[in-house]
Amino acid sequence: MLTYYQSTADPSLAFPALVGQVEVDVVIVGGGYAGLATAMSLLERGAKNVMLLEAQTVGHGASGRNGGFVFGGFSLDNAELIRQLGLQQARALYQLTLDAVQRIRQRITQYQIDCDAQYSGVLLADWFRDERALRELQRLMQTQFDVQWDWLSREQVRELLVTKRYHGALFESNAFHFHPLKYAQGLARQLQGGGVAVHESSAVQSITRQGAGWQLQTAQARIRAREVVVCCGGYIERLYPALARAVLPIATYVVTTEPLGQRLQSVMRTQAAVYDTRFAFDYYRPLSDTRLLWGGRISIKDRAPAQVERLLRADLVRVYPQLRDVRITHAWSGMMSYARHKMPQIGRLPNGLWYAMGFGGHGVAPTTMAGELLAQALSGQGALPPGFESYGLPPTFGALGRLAAQASYWWMQARDAWRR
Ligand SMILES: Cc1cc2nc3c(=O)[nH]c(=O)nc-3n(C[C@H](O)[C@H](O)[C@H](O)COP(=O)(O)OP(=O)(O)OC[C@H]3O[C@@H](n4cnc5c(N)ncnc54)[C@H](O)[C@@H]3O)c2cc1C
Repeated sequence: MLTYYQSTADPSLAFPALVGQVEVDVVIVGGGYAGLATAMSLLERGAKNVMLLEAQTVGHGASGRNGGFVFGGFSLDNAELIRQLGLQQARALYQLTLDAVQRIRQRITQYQIDCDAQYSGVLLADWFRDERALRELQRLMQTQFDVQWDWLSREQVRELLVTKRYHGALFESNAFHFHPLKYAQGLARQLQGGGVAVHESSAVQSITRQGAGWQLQTAQARIRAREVVVCCGGYIERLYPALARAVLPIATYVVTTEPLGQRLQSVMRTQAAVYDTRFAFDYYRPLSDTRLLWGGRISIKDRAPAQVERLLRADLVRVYPQLRDVRITHAWSGMMSYARHKMPQIGRLPNGLWYAMGFGGHGVAPTTMAGELLAQALSGQGALPPGFESYGLPPTFGALGRLAAQASYWWMQARDAWRR
């Protein structure tokens, strides 16, 4: 079954598989946002002889399947970021993600990427009737990060979202949402136009050091390169063990409803995207054709569409019982890559291999940030910020780690239920 995004993106866009023997300056492995953004930031700096290799199609992974929320911050929450890094460094890293949100807006305009961008902000809705916690978060964002998230009372929220589930909200006006696959395709088209060699159906099978450079092998090609950047997210499998063992692939699920037409008004009277204050939160947004896109849950299981539909329909109806009879037209899952510390992993191995991964469920802006930082470093224009280095590549312990992550999710889900 196609995802909603696949069925509404450009079906004719395709890039040829790489065949033969080639020599390039930089090879980027993975055509998700991390790879695309790295290539784009290199191109914008005038880099020549750059190649991007994607195993499937551009945006096949999390980048073409996600909720479409574009906002600052990381998977690790902000209070924890300050606790771990200190205020100065935490502020600097958070600011890089806000710069990335701005960079995405600018690229959409500059490259005329038609990706249904909806600049209507994001609402964080209070699930627990815990005004104090929400006010505390609002204060933290304002005093520590100089960011204004507007307070909405219960009554104001109920004017926008026709449900009794929420008790107030914070509104992040600078955030927006878009069609993630159209954005990925738009970047790829622009890269190709600018001279970057983009190849799909070109899974890299091995990466080996060879003299001062690298050799990469695909089914039909051999590539020699001066620099290699690995950006394979939760789809890395066994490609490069030193990197693969540092991320946990974790699934999350999305469905879309049939077009709701006027009926959408009986659910949402805002174009903002919405998520809530639970650990195991729902995330959803209205689409340009009046459908509702609904996402949620995390699991170690990449479930079939029928199961995803069953699980998410129940979640949707819990918040909006008026949609009990709604038809679900698309259901899919996608894999995120999580590091144990929940921060992105952006850096260089001692042998010189560059990487960007571990963006978790909060990766649209951070991958864009990573691309910019890596392009700067690759062009000799600046070192990576020390904050990321300190997080490193701790092992995630394979299947055992996945079981532990699932158990911890269930525990947090139970805690959410108890708290309510
Ligand atoms: C369902 C879902 C909802 C989400 N919602 C949001 C959201 O609303 N907002 C937000 O900020 N974040 C969200 N995220 C997270 C965000 O999408 C990711 O953090 C981000 O897209 C990761 O980008 P990436 O480039 O690291 O990985 P990916 O997009 O997964 O790309 C990795 C690519 O590498 C390719 N690859 C793997 N192995 C090879 C190989 N050997 N050779 C060549 N290519 C290879 C894969 O095919 C894939 O295309 C969500 C994620 C999911 C799954």
